[in-house]
Amino acid sequence: RAHLDRIAAVDGDVHAFLHISDAALETAAAVDAKRAAGEKLGPLAGVPVAIKDVLCTIDMPSTAGSKILEGWIPPYDATVVARLRAANLIPLGKTNMDEFAMGSTTEHSAYGPTHNPWDLERIPGGSGGGSAAAVAAFEAPLALGSDTGGSIRQPAAVTGSVGVKPTYGGVSRYGAIALASSLDQVGPVSRTVLDAALLHDVIGGHDPRDSTSLRDEWPSFTAAALSGQKAESLKGLRVGVVKQLDAPGFQHGVTQRFHESLEILAAAGAEIVEVDAPNFEYSVAAYYLILPAEASSNLAKFDSVRFGLRVNPVGGGTVEDVMSATREAGFGPEVKRRVILGTYALSAGYYDAYYGSAQKVRTLIQSDFAAAFEKVDVLVSPSAPTTAFKIGEKINDPLAMYLNDVTTIPANLAGIPGMSLPIGLAPEDGLPVGIQIMAPARADARLYEVGATLE
Ligand code: GLN
Repeated sequence: RAHLDRIAAVDGDVHAFLHISDAALETAAAVDAKRAAGEKLGPLAGVPVAIKDVLCTIDMPSTAGSKILEGWIPPYDATVVARLRAANLIPLGKTNMDEFAMGSTTEHSAYGPTHNPWDLERIPGGSGGGSAAAVAAFEAPLALGSDTGGSIRQPAAVTGSVGVKPTYGGVSRYGAIALASSLDQVGPVSRTVLDAALLHDVIGGHDPRDSTSLRDEWPSFTAAALSGQKAESLKGLRVGVVKQLDAPGFQHGVTQRFHESLEILAAAGAEIVEVDAPNFEYSVAAYYLILPAEASSNLAKFDSVRFGLRVNPVGGGTVEDVMSATREAGFGPEVKRRVILGTYALSAGYYDAYYGSAQKVRTLIQSDFAAAFEKVDVLVSPSAPTTAFKIGEKINDPLAMYLNDVTTIPANLAGIPGMSLPIGLAPEDGLPVGIQIMAPARADARLYEVGATLE
């Protein structure tokens, strides 16, 4: 009730939600009844959670921020949503996002932008700005996001929240509307590292419905966060600072807070090592070929026949005319831009030059990480080059927008886990700054342990 009241009070300004569940109070009562009946419930039973609109929910519309899916109610729940329900969490509603998760500001939502609760004139990050803003505005204690190139970590950074992109394959993608299937991962958004760990424990683990799901037995991330909270020193921990991600072009206050965090880590006994990752320079370029290529293919299913919107051209027309009128009306400008870039990069004659080269760069970035993790246990960087900028500032400059993802993209290209957690406010604008911690694939527990120690 308190969270629904809070949403009613602030969401008119923040616009974190696209849909509020009408079943939340009923679900809460059902959980209370289970508890009263003596049923043994998990640690998050009864806790409300906001769900990014890219995730399929059987009882709520799932639009992925697009007009082409307006009003579409999926016939099934995403695995992560089913797991929330099984663990007795209470879905509060669906959160706003850039259309099909393409963006870094939530301005590309077909339903209008989300506003950063720290300053309503600023962006809450993206694509999962709705989930991060909901958590930062105390509309929800927990949220789910998806991260293809930073869409959990960067919104967390600019809203003073915690966000985790798990190891690729660590959390099921079944029922997550695909952007770029080789990069997408679902993960938690929260206000503390321990909260994120609790949520990760609920949603993670093998899912036979996702062919890329890892079969690993995962350790308890909650236990890892608790052990980090109790840790008195980081003695022996080798922390690598990626030279290419501690760049001179970053906002002064971001760099300053980041370097203070390095001092805190060193004072706690960690050994700080500079690490060179020469191929990171090409990560944005490679990502913005691989992502549009995969996205153009994934989005081909929005053909006016199988899902959502259908626009019949005036005076009739062929099947192809209907498809093209539907896609013309249903997709926003950023989606069209990427479909065009992607189909071009995949076209015969250009495939090797663009997509093929980008895949090679991807391998080089993976080898940069492999070499780095031979020397260090975790890598750190600022989570984003700047604090939250003004709504409208970069919307007409796609390249500037893409470059903003420089810090988060490498982890997606390599499939490794990354966490952003708050490290204070930038002195020049009083806005939150985040540090990113990255670990080798499958070592997500290390993020929770180190994150909880640093927090
Ligand atoms: N900003 C990135 C992009 O526009 C991240 C997207 C994401 O992680 N979903 O592609």
